[in-house]
Amino acid sequence: MTRLLAHLVMLFGAYGPSFGIAASVPPHNVRDAWDYACYVTQYDCSVVEPPKVLWQDLYNMYGIVGGYDGSDTIYMDVTYLRAADPVYVQSILAHEITHYLDVQLGYTTLPYTSDNVCLSEFRAWRVGNAYVLTHGRPDLVDFSWHIRYGCFNG
Ligand SMILES: [Zn+2]
Repeated sequence: MTRLLAHLVMLFGAYGPSFGIAASVPPHNVRDAWDYACYVTQYDCSVVEPPKVLWQDLYNMYGIVGGYDGSDTIYMDVTYLRAADPVYVQSILAHEITHYLDVQLGYTTLPYTSDNVCLSEFRAWRVGNAYVLTHGRPDLVDFSWHIRYGCFNG
């Protein structure tokens, strides 16, 4: 539930302090994450531009490693992810890009509701789990996210 609400919190979190943090973002490749999300979702990504990516201290402030607020920007945690496995970092990028694609392509309509957030999370976790699985890290697959998020429980 905390992470579910984090998507809504991001609307305000975007204005949090970020000065000086961008100098040491973890290695990442937005284009690869974008291509992977488009491949798994089978969305036509040719009609939308990739999002801007803003690295901020999300984990310490909100307990999340990434977020998307419905804008043209996805938010990635800079502190926790700096020390994370690169496969995990890419999976989070692909996850947030999936949320971005859902909104930009009209599969998720704003404002966010519990129902449409859960459906977008289902797609985003499907992409992120596929990413870690196909990149040699089956130990990073998470099939219980829906319990933490309070989705599809009943
Ligand atoms: Zn998500």
